Amino acid sequence: MSRPIDPTDLFDRLCTGDRVALARAVTLVESTLPAHRAMADELVAMCSSIHPETRRIAISGVPGVGKSTFIDAFGSLLTAAGERVAVLAIDPSSEVGGGSILGDKTRMERLATDPMAFVRPSPSGGNLGGVARSTRETILLCEEAGFTTTLIETVGVGQSETMAHGMTDMFLLLVLASAGDELQGIKRGIMEMADMVVINKDDGSHSALTGPARGSYTNALHLFPARPDGWEVPVAACSSVEGRGMTELAAQVERYFTHMRANGELVARRQAQAIQWFDAQLNEGILQTILIDPSLNPIFAALRDTVRNGSTDVPLAIQKAMVALRQRLD
Ligand code: GDP
Repeated sequence: MSRPIDPTDLFDRLCTGDRVALARAVTLVESTLPAHRAMADELVAMCSSIHPETRRIAISGVPGVGKSTFIDAFGSLLTAAGERVAVLAIDPSSEVGGGSILGDKTRMERLATDPMAFVRPSPSGGNLGGVARSTRETILLCEEAGFTTTLIETVGVGQSETMAHGMTDMFLLLVLASAGDELQGIKRGIMEMADMVVINKDDGSHSALTGPARGSYTNALHLFPARPDGWEVPVAACSSVEGRGMTELAAQVERYFTHMRANGELVARRQAQAIQWFDAQLNEGILQTILIDPSLNPIFAALRDTVRNGSTDVPLAIQKAMVALRQRLD
């Protein structure tokens, strides 16, 4: 990013659907350089966070279950039907040099070369808050560029699922059928987040296991209390390699969005997410502002020293820091 960036110009180009401009904009919001951050803030402020007609779908599941292959197949089905599809990844574990699985675009052969798609490797490094922020902002940029469906692949386990769930309309959990132990290794919390369970690799010798697996997952889902939004989580099956079951699955996704739009739950979910985003960003902004405040910074540094040399206990040091903060705010 050596050329100077004009956020307004970039925004204008982005709005025409220009994928190069979009890629550049995403690089900007992922940057941690303060100068880039300021431009990114300007750019993102021009974007609408509403876009009620778009779909944001999280795709989750253990490594090897076939997430990338599934996204390639499902995404291609959508682009063939005229949708513009963006693919992002959430990977809070990818420390510097860790690289990302999505970086290897060959795993999404069709979408990577599809003019109707935008495939973005996950950024490497960055803290959790940073990853959440840049992903949220990237979703808005993609929607502003005319991408109607955003698929978000979760990489790693634990935090990435929760994070993806907190910024999408639908959480799709990919699983495998295996003899008798289907539910092993799938945490209750992850199952509870699922809006649809998809048994992948329904082909070859695996196919015989699909029926029983579907029964096990359906039973497991019935153990949860009925959802307040009235949606019954379906268990679908597909082969991402052969394409089998994909059309039916796409119809189920459509049915979910129709249901959630009709009862107002989709709007409610997005509103709750917007508040979550606002609060997280506000907390971070307040913290940053306080920590670099020139009148407080030396007081905090001095108190930290007294804690280090043992002359002040931690609770007392915190109390003194809070007194200084309140005085500053008065
Ligand atoms: P990820 O780690 O969850 O993203 O999984 P990948 O998409 O990389 O897939 C892992 C392996 O499973 C690869 O060798 C894929 O070719 C294979 N795979 C994915 N989907 C299917 C499927 O529907 N059927 C079969 N037989 N293999 C699949």
